[in-house]
Amino acid sequence: MGRKRSRNTRAGWDADDWPVPRRPDASELRFAARAVVAHLPESRAAGARCVFDGRVFPCKWFRWGFRVLTANGVSARQIRDVLGVSVSVSLAPRGRR
Ligand SMILES: [Zn+2]
Repeated sequence: MGRKRSRNTRAGWDADDWPVPRRPDASELRFAARAVVAHLPESRAAGARCVFDGRVFPCKWFRWGFRVLTANGVSARQIRDVLGVSVSVSLAPRGRR
């Protein structure tokens, strides 16, 4: 039984994921940071779930916030160090624009 936080979760791009703004303003960046903090995972028997909405972690909100932050100077490592979640989220849909 290792420590759960050391496991890296990978997430792709769902068909209904929100686009990432190219040049988010300050309020969008704050909103993204709040989304990531509010939608952290909790351990359940069936796997990690979002504490906010109960969906499989990382939920749509977390994915969006993570993408906005990491596209704007925050590294996945910083998110891991500050929030204790090790996760990688693909930044853009494959083969689509
Ligand atoms: Zn959520």
